[in-house]
Amino acid sequence: MKKALKIIQILKKTYPDAKCALDFKNPEQLLVATILSAQCTDKRVNLVTPALFKRCQKSKDFSGISQKELETYIRSTGFYSNKAKSIRGAFQMICEKHGGQVPKTMEELVKLPGVGRKTANVILGNAYDIPGLTVDTHMLRVNKRLGLSLEKDAVKMERELMKIVPKKDWTLYSHLVIHHGRAICNARKPLCSKCPLEKLCPKNGVEKYV
Ligand code: SF4
Repeated sequence: MKKALKIIQILKKTYPDAKCALDFKNPEQLLVATILSAQCTDKRVNLVTPALFKRCQKSKDFSGISQKELETYIRSTGFYSNKAKSIRGAFQMICEKHGGQVPKTMEELVKLPGVGRKTANVILGNAYDIPGLTVDTHMLRVNKRLGLSLEKDAVKMERELMKIVPKKDWTLYSHLVIHHGRAICNARKPLCSKCPLEKLCPKNGVEKYV
């Protein structure tokens, strides 16, 4: 716990501007952008969403757009057929069961097509200010190297981190670690000599990646 707090303190100082890298103006847009970000860079998602958000502004627009038309907007994000199905399916449920509003609970969010705990935590944390730990590939790798959790399963790691990261910091902690994973603690070649966490880090698993 003490170590986690120290790590958070250092990362906050190192990345004072860390935040969600996806562009969005409301929960609907964030849900779409998060679904599109699977197996795709946030940068690419931010390139395709402006035109899509001009065409679809409300939940009923995302549920009513045809599969074919939606695919033309999101093709370059990859896996576009499945992503289009998820977006249309999620918004059909949102319109039918939630009055057109993206739900605010984990329980309801994970029932939407294409939405797992990771996506749900992104929505809760960034659209509704409800703390959520988003365990993606960067979180899995960096937390393991730091020795904060050795879990390989994202949901199990999320549960472990919930015990050592203060709840008020869950969303920010995810941004900080994801930022650090992109900037310094890379998958293939972590830049340990430039890392502000080096003194605290047992570097578990690093050998595997270099
Ligand atoms: S010291 Fe190296 S392995 Fe540890 S967090 Fe920093 S970059 Fe990653």
